[in-house]
Parts: sequence; structure tokens; C-alpha cells
Amino acid sequence: MNRIRNIYFRGSLRSCNYQCSYCSFGKKIGETDKERDQQAHSLFYDNIAQWIDPLRIMLIPYGEGLIHTYYQEAMIRLSLLSHVEGISCQTNLSFQPSSFIKRIQAHHATIAKIKLWASFHPEMTSIDTFIEKVHQLYYAGIELCVGVVGSRRNKDTIAVLRQKLDKRIYLFINALQGGSDLLHTDDISFFTSIDPFFLSDYKNAKADISRCSGGRDTIFVNHKGNVHPCPRNPVKIGDITDRESFVKPVCPRERCDCYIGYSNLPDTRLSRMMGKGILFRIPEKRKIEAIFFDIDGTLTDSTGRISGSCKEAVELLSETVPLYLATALPLLPAKRRLGNLFHLFTGGVFADGAHIHYQDNDVYIPLKPIPDIQKKGCEVREYIAGQHIIYKYVLKMPSAEQTRTVMKTLENQDYNLHHQGVFLAITAKKAGKKSGLETICRKEHINLKNVVAIGNTAQDSSMLSAVGYPCAVLDAEDTLKQMAGYILNPDHLPLFFKS
Ligand code: SF4
Ligand code: SF4
Repeated sequence: MNRIRNIYFRGSLRSCNYQCSYCSFGKKIGETDKERDQQAHSLFYDNIAQWIDPLRIMLIPYGEGLIHTYYQEAMIRLSLLSHVEGISCQTNLSFQPSSFIKRIQAHHATIAKIKLWASFHPEMTSIDTFIEKVHQLYYAGIELCVGVVGSRRNKDTIAVLRQKLDKRIYLFINALQGGSDLLHTDDISFFTSIDPFFLSDYKNAKADISRCSGGRDTIFVNHKGNVHPCPRNPVKIGDITDRESFVKPVCPRERCDCYIGYSNLPDTRLSRMMGKGILFRIPEKRKIEAIFFDIDGTLTDSTGRISGSCKEAVELLSETVPLYLATALPLLPAKRRLGNLFHLFTGGVFADGAHIHYQDNDVYIPLKPIPDIQKKGCEVREYIAGQHIIYKYVLKMPSAEQTRTVMKTLENQDYNLHHQGVFLAITAKKAGKKSGLETICRKEHINLKNVVAIGNTAQDSSMLSAVGYPCAVLDAEDTLKQMAGYILNPDHLPLFFKS
């Protein structure tokens, strides 16, 4: 028998109290509709109650269920089953959060097992009303994701929604497929900057039942108890009342064209980043002990500016987890670059790893002086600690060609060389962001497995290879993205990590 871990369930409800212009379920609530749905939930509950193995359940009604008392009760009852690890429900959040929270408490249910997938409908409610409800639920202990349709005309609304939403709550953007509102490159960049998974939704995925977990780990159950690999797959594989009889799934579809479909494909970056929260569309928050940030192109954008949302994320993260810098910049320029954010960092690795600063300690990796001949015809900047220790040179050569020539003569010697155009940075071979990060973690008793390092160029790759959570920013160099476990910007970190 298959080891089912995740179940999508849809009862027979086909009605909603909202009336969104593009939806056929609006304003159609009838008593028979509710009664039939109640029966479907009872049948589903009776079957799930006999289950033994751990399960996660996602309720996906056609329309809005949680405005009905019986629906809230059905969700809470399922959460009370000891083998149900978590249960979520798609909702427009039009119900009263306080009544729902009281009902959960009255049943002595574990609030952390209850989650929500809340969609914002700008035609039907205001941002402030919606956000107030989201936060009321979240601060009461109910994890949720918030979603909105990614149309071009919604961009301003989405920006405000993200800005007002707690930075720890994931805002997903559903790509509008087809239609006349075609997205341009800057729209896609904008949506991706809000939702790092936007491209997965925009491109979705080719259906591939040989890889799909639908019908194996994950099933969809409808109001009759019929079991399908996913809600989009019309081919029945069995009945919920007889789990032994499930047949091998097949799939006639060409594409997994929505999150509930493509999230069934294993070993994708989405599945790795979402972790155990994939069914609920809520990123699993990994426990961490420290974060190391590159500065240029990571904390700052291409103009050298740190965005408001990045600042807020750094401030939020600094409240619970030690933050460090890992930068090519020496300490003083790094301090100037970060302005009033600098004091939020506990220490760091500066000057390409030639200067390590933590608590009140400063460790410099001395550099063998370079022969005078190499300095001829160029501007030389020496970084010196105390009176004597040179730990970094930056040469500005008359041309990029000459930079390459000098590099060649210094290759295979005791130096690390980094060049960019006419600039050549030289540090000792032993210096590096990776070794600096490892030194700090060793001294501070931080487990490298619980460390996040985030950067943007191939130069950051060795540092990323040392930690449990290597991250590349959205517009990082491709080589770094390929080896990073997470592709996200610093302002997305609170969605994925906690102390
Ligand atoms: S809230 Fe959802 S189900 Fe209700 S009318 Fe709008 S789109 Fe349809
Ligand atoms: S459409 Fe559904 S069943 Fe088919 S491959 Fe995609 S997720 Fe699997």
C-alpha cells in the first residue's frame, strides 16, 4: 500500500459570500449545498479517523467554507486526530478571526496544527481589513500564507500588501495564465522580488506522472470519497474507503498548471525550499544560529542602495539571531556603506577575509609584500593594521590588460587575487570569506549546519559551501545560483529562517 502523507480534500460546497468578477461560485449559498457538504465532511472524517500514519490535510473548497460554523468545526475536529500533523484551508478570510480562535480554544485543539491559505480579493475587501485579520490569526499562533493574483493592474496593491504584511508571512503571487494582461520582463522581476517562487507559477511544469508524488505520497479526495492523484487529474485511482485497492496513477494532462499540481514534483528548488510546508504553501522555517551577508550586490542593489524592505528584514532578523558581514570591503568602508544598520551586526569577515572581527577581537591575516615592480605605473592602496601588518592591497592599473598581466606574474604565489576591470585586490592565500566565517563560528560555538550565508557572485561560492543554508540573491551570477540551496533576497530571509 502507498504511504500517503498528504491529502487534498474538497467537499461538495460550491458557493461563496464574495462575488469576484471572474468566479462562478459567488453569492450562491443554499441550505442543501451546506447539508451535502456537511455529509461529505463526515464521510471524510470517518475515514481519516481510521488512519494511523502521520498525515497533513489541505481543504480546498470550491467557494468559501470557513464562513460556516460546521466547516470550522470539521476542520478543528480533524486537527484533533493525533495522527493529523497539520491541516489548512483555502479561504478568502471573510470570517471573524476572533470567533474561529475561540472555537479552536473551546475544543482544546492545538492551534499550531491549524493553518490557512488566505487569498486577498481587492474587489471585495480593503488591504487594511484583510491584513488586520491576517495578523490577528498569525499572532494567535495560526501560520498562514497570503496570496493574490499577479496581474499588472494589481502591482501597486501588491506592493502595499507586502509592505504592510508581517515580514515573516509568505505572500505568494499566482500568475495569470493567458488573457490580455501579458506580463513584461519588469513585471516578472517585480513579482519575483515579492514572491521568490513566482517563476515556478508563471512557467508551471510539464506533467510527468513518473516523477509526480500524486497518487503515491499525495492524493486528492472528492466529496464522494473518490481518490485522484491531484485535483486536476480526472483519472480515479481508488476510493478512500478502501486504501488497499488504489491503482497505479496515470495522468492525461500535459501540464501541472497550478501550485497544487507542480508542487507534487519532487527534488525541485521549490520542494527543497518549502520543505515540510509544501502542502500548505507555507515555507518551513528552519532553525538557524547565525547569518553571514555579503554587502555589495547582496545587501545593496546595483546602485549601492539598501532598500527599505531589506533594512526592515535586517532589523527584524537582528532581534533574534546574530548577524555577520562577509565582504570584500575593509571594515571602515563597510561601516560607511551600511550607515545606521552597521550596529546590528555582531562582527564579520572584512577585506576578502583578511580581517576577522568578532566581539572585541580583530584578527588580521598578514600579506607577504608584493615586489615593487608590480606597483609601477599604478595607484596602490595598502590596508595596514596597527603599525606594520599589511593585510590587503588594491592596485588600480592603467588598463584592464595590465591588470591581467600583473595577475599572471602573481599567480601560483602566496596570494588570493580578485580583479574587476582595472582593479586588482590582493590578500594572503590563507585569507578568505570561508575561512573567516569558519573562524567566527568556531570561536562563537556556532554550528555551521545552522548557518545561512548569502551572496551574489562566484567569489561567495566557497563561503556558501561551508554552511548548511547557502543562499544566492535573485540576480546572483548563475554559477552561484546553481550551487545555492536557496535563491532569495535578504528581505525574504524571515520567511524561511528563525532562531
Ligand atoms: S472569494 Fe474566491 S470563491 Fe469567492 S467569489 Fe472570490 S474567487 Fe470565487
Ligand atoms: S497534473 Fe497532477 S497528476 Fe498529473 S503530473 Fe501534474 S500533479 Fe501529477
